[in-house]
Amino acid sequence: MNKVQPVRGTYDLYGEAKRKAKKVISTGSRIVEKYGFEEIETPVFEFTEVFSRNLGDTSDIVTKEMYCFQDRGGESLTLRPEGTAGVVRAFISEGMQQNLPVKMYYAGPMFRYERPQKGRQRQFTQFGVELLGVEVPQADIEVIAMAYEFIESLGLSGTVTVEINSLGDKESRDAYRAKLVAYLKENYDKLSEDSKNRLDKNPLRVLDSKEECDKAVVAGAPLYQDSLNENSKNFFNAVLKGLDNLGIRYRVNNRLVRGLDYYSHTVFELITDKLGAQGTVLAGGRYDGLVEQMGGGKVSGIGWACGVERLSMLLDEDVSLPRPVAVIPVGEDTNDKALQIACQLRRAGFRVEQAYGGNLKKRMMKANKVNAEKAIIIGSEELADGNVTVKNLDNGEQRMVSLDNLIEGLK
Ligand code: ATP
Ligand code: MG
Repeated sequence: MNKVQPVRGTYDLYGEAKRKAKKVISTGSRIVEKYGFEEIETPVFEFTEVFSRNLGDTSDIVTKEMYCFQDRGGESLTLRPEGTAGVVRAFISEGMQQNLPVKMYYAGPMFRYERPQKGRQRQFTQFGVELLGVEVPQADIEVIAMAYEFIESLGLSGTVTVEINSLGDKESRDAYRAKLVAYLKENYDKLSEDSKNRLDKNPLRVLDSKEECDKAVVAGAPLYQDSLNENSKNFFNAVLKGLDNLGIRYRVNNRLVRGLDYYSHTVFELITDKLGAQGTVLAGGRYDGLVEQMGGGKVSGIGWACGVERLSMLLDEDVSLPRPVAVIPVGEDTNDKALQIACQLRRAGFRVEQAYGGNLKKRMMKANKVNAEKAIIIGSEELADGNVTVKNLDNGEQRMVSLDNLIEGLK
């Protein structure tokens, strides 16, 4: 078997795709830092329990997708499938409860054993945010506004829609759960095997099933909104009003639920129709019970994460780097000077390519190949008078420039 290939579902990221991914992350960082979020980097693996106990033991991630392994000391470890559980683990182990609210963001690789297809990889990158310690709807509003500003800054607000729903507080969820179970039992025979199993353990998960037979049943299921109590309704209305106030357009989708156990109240997704079945580019929600469930006391939380590769695929223009200047020595005796000039120009902020080796013609060809805007041609005779030739490679114009004025002359 030929092993000189990447593992199925993993990719080498380079060239245009890497530039785009980098742009997504740098744009995200710039936006969320304006809101006071600071970057955190947690390990790419954690004790398996961090995920298995907190994401929900009937979730797709935990039942089918985790990369678990035993290390040489016999510990069961898991490559992180998502970011929130690790960040909350860090929040607790670093004692960050002392100084609320805590606002953190992260970017990095996640790992899920999934069926690879366009926009669905086994190693992929997420950029995400977590806001811990704010119970009021203003947190939801601000966190969604931040997601929206991020998408807008990437030039994607026209291609992406905000969908939002409320899962309510615990009382509302319990009430809904009872209604849903009754309905699903009436339709038991039509459900997939997976969903039949979920019915006892976690019926809400059936709503998130990707199986066609389940989707048909779910289409007629009771709506969440009819089970929300006063408190939950007021909370949700406050969030929607806040979004209206900021001019953020959204669609209430009563069918929207999230695949993990820890969500409550607000859940939202940013969706595009340009990526087929992998249309969710960013997803998040409120997770008021998670910190407590992990042993960190009563601290509420809300956050989102986006798929960096999915967003990159939506950016249609390549991310342009500034065009370089090519430094071309003519003849052996000008090589040292060429190195000095290249060094000096880079310090002044230019991108500089050295056309190594070959005659003048060859080097000019190389300069064109790297899409240089200008070439600085260094000949011995001119150099003796302190001059070089600057050639505009777009229109062929060239002129002599004194080394003392070179930086000015390039502008
Ligand atoms: P999906 O319904 O597409 O499986 P999900 O609900 O499992 O998504 P989340 O756990 O909410 O996804 O992750 C947040 C975002 O990360 C997704 O909206 C998506 O953009 C991205 N993402 C999730 N899984 C993958 C994957 N396997 N490959 C690439 N991107 C992914
Ligand atoms: Mg998934």
